[in-house]
Amino acid sequence: MGAGAVGTTFAYALQISGSAGEIVLVDLNRERAEAEALDLNHGLFFTPPVQIRAGGYEECADADIVVITAGAKQKEGQTRLDLVGENVKICRSIVDSITEHTQEAILLMVTNPVDVLTYAALKFSDYPKERVIGSGTVLDTARFRYLLSRNCRVDPHNVHGYVLGEHGDSEVIAWSIASIAGMRMKEKCKTCPRRMEDCDREGVAEAVRNSAYHLISGKGATNWAVGLAMVRIVTALLRDEKSVLTVSSLIDGQYGIEDICLSIPAVLGSQGVEDLIAPGLSEEDRKALRASAETIDEVLRGVDLK
Ligand code: NAD
Repeated sequence: MGAGAVGTTFAYALQISGSAGEIVLVDLNRERAEAEALDLNHGLFFTPPVQIRAGGYEECADADIVVITAGAKQKEGQTRLDLVGENVKICRSIVDSITEHTQEAILLMVTNPVDVLTYAALKFSDYPKERVIGSGTVLDTARFRYLLSRNCRVDPHNVHGYVLGEHGDSEVIAWSIASIAGMRMKEKCKTCPRRMEDCDREGVAEAVRNSAYHLISGKGATNWAVGLAMVRIVTALLRDEKSVLTVSSLIDGQYGIEDICLSIPAVLGSQGVEDLIAPGLSEEDRKALRASAETIDEVLRGVDLK
């Protein structure tokens, strides 16, 4: 749902990945969805085979995963939370249309504010909680690992760290569990040949948290990395990978948080979120995570979702 900047970048990356057998673009602007589908089809000579077309909500009937990227996006100076009023309404109409055709799919919410909308989709759809997922902080975690890898001069695949909580201004860079080759950053930094000159924690946290603002000011949208993050999530679900990714889902008592969708490490497989993992955090990270949950909770109450 949604064939704008994020939806089409995701479709393009998914086509190249070879993970999907069928991709259907659904958008209010049908003409645009048709044109985007045609453009992608012209690339089939260069990619693994996949059926791509534009369609309506009836196409959800046998979908494994329905990905929602439809709705308003941040303009310069807006936070993700500023989008809530408009996007909760869009979420309601889209989820109602989806559930008319399927009760079986996994819903992947990407539209912002993603944690609030994941909760909204869960309430509107009445789907089991394992099958309503938000892209959460998968992108933020990738941004964090990229910055750490650059500072530490280590491949991003070998840097472990998570961004938890809201995909937004209150998100938590969980320094207390960041590590390289099993070495916590606290220890690793002591052995750094560059003596942490570039690795000021506030600077890294600021760069992760404000990435979207910088990108929106420069190009009006963020699309490439989020498209790849979405392919990563969808592939983990389709292939039953049991991969650990920081998607947003309903939290059930972990860290003393309840009845809120936000990101903590989650195991993703064919059933959706199959397990939530709550690693031990420092008191500082734990407090920040609870504050992030409170921020989301306040917004949910503000739009009468609680
Ligand atoms: P966009 O304006 O390019 O595209 C939005 C699309 O939604 C448009 O094509 C529009 O026609 C369609 N649309 C609107 N209402 C609809 C409805 N009721 N049914 C079907 N289609 C509808 O925006 P974008 O840049 O693609 O961003 C989309 C959303 O994704 C925004 O909310 C943005 O903030 C969010 N986003 C999330 C992340 C993340 O990590 N979660 C990252 C980037 C962007």
